[in-house]
Amino acid sequence: MKLGILLMVSALTAAPSRAEDPQRESPFAERGYYITFMRMPTYKLDDWKRIVDDIHDDGGNLLLLWVGGGFRSKKFPVTWKSNQEHENVRHDFVRDLIDHAHSRGIKVLLSFTPFGYDGVNQYPLDRPELRAIARDGKPVRKFGIGCWGYNLCPSRPESRRFMIEYAREMAFDFYPNADGLMIESSDYAICHCQDCGARFFEREFEFVKQISQEVWAKKPEATVVVYPHYFSGTEVPGFGVRAAKQAFDPRWGLFFTPHSAHLDASLIRQARASLWSDDSPALRRPQNIKAAAQRAKQAGVTGYVPSLETFSFIATEAEEGQARLIGKRQVPLGMTWLSKDHQPYDELPLKINRIAYREFSRNPDLPFDQFRHRLGREILGENATTEDADDLLNLQATFAEERTWCQPSPLVSPERIRAMNEQGLLSPAKKARYRASLDRIRAVERRHRAAKSSGERELHRIAKWVVDQWQNETQELLAP
Ligand SMILES: [Zn+2]
Repeated sequence: MKLGILLMVSALTAAPSRAEDPQRESPFAERGYYITFMRMPTYKLDDWKRIVDDIHDDGGNLLLLWVGGGFRSKKFPVTWKSNQEHENVRHDFVRDLIDHAHSRGIKVLLSFTPFGYDGVNQYPLDRPELRAIARDGKPVRKFGIGCWGYNLCPSRPESRRFMIEYAREMAFDFYPNADGLMIESSDYAICHCQDCGARFFEREFEFVKQISQEVWAKKPEATVVVYPHYFSGTEVPGFGVRAAKQAFDPRWGLFFTPHSAHLDASLIRQARASLWSDDSPALRRPQNIKAAAQRAKQAGVTGYVPSLETFSFIATEAEEGQARLIGKRQVPLGMTWLSKDHQPYDELPLKINRIAYREFSRNPDLPFDQFRHRLGREILGENATTEDADDLLNLQATFAEERTWCQPSPLVSPERIRAMNEQGLLSPAKKARYRASLDRIRAVERRHRAAKSSGERELHRIAKWVVDQWQNETQELLAP
């Protein structure tokens, strides 16, 4: 309770713009995050409520909650068999979580991929004849992130039956209080069989249209966000196949990303909601978040809803080609001071990006210096200097440098440096750059030894944690 009051007081005094109405000021009607819930098995309902509260604190009103493969389907147990440790598979709390989100003014869209990715890609383990066909004419190979399996051929009647029944079960039986769906077309594979091929997106669209109409029949105001691949007619990135050119119903919302679904001005004008989503808050730096928000504003989309993914699953396959990860639990951003069931979003390296998201989604043109000033004051107090704020940004940069979805920054992971060394990826120039980055963090650690506020103590503690990773034998790895 005491801590709660302290936090409230500090929020009131530290945030300079609370008096302004962030809803009115933002160019984006939809703000929030895309979170891969199904790959975060270790967090309980209370942790997820806290994550929702964080989204609210960041000015968010939308959560794209990826639940495919993360709920205990009665019809298709194979979809969660490999995810049995997931707290929601064990205790089925997403309905309560959605109610909590609503109490915070946040809408929740249930996310999944048609014919692919988590949950769905497990079905061909029982029914291998339904596997999609790769470009070489053979059945697709195993693929995934966390949940590995095979994407399905959408032309096969049994694939279609499975897909519609699984989506209905999720949307109508399990979580009817959700605000709609986010149907994420696959970014890694389509089916090149005789019936799909150039018509793949028409085939996929048959499912998308059917489930959308069923959702709207039950809840006319429901939001269903889909990819532009069914309407744009343009080449879909990565697949050598064109999008379908079906009639667009303006009730659909559209989802655009830098890597898999390029912005389309004509469709954006027609849709009632259009979301830009990139990986800046998850993988990159506040500068990237600002640039992404500006790009979204210039494109005229109605929302900026980027990824804030972190994982806590145990890898069963060589994620990103790294066999050394098999059997190990993913640790969000490599922050190994966290216990496995402690959600990571209040930790400083993520919190800095959350504040960046809050500020730049409210005003994409906010000068970076002003953001830095606000960041320093919010975390370190009224008297924070520019140098103090730069220390925060340097700490965040340490965790962002070369971070990938499944591997932490080399700067916080001697294990990764060791692997890079063995794989011949550690050039002298790279080592010199890492040494320079670590020297900056050592300076941060020294400057804040006599920390005065809780925020400054946190900054010092984490800087020291980074410094402590590099002693004696690990230090040798980076020697010239
Ligand atoms: Zn096919």
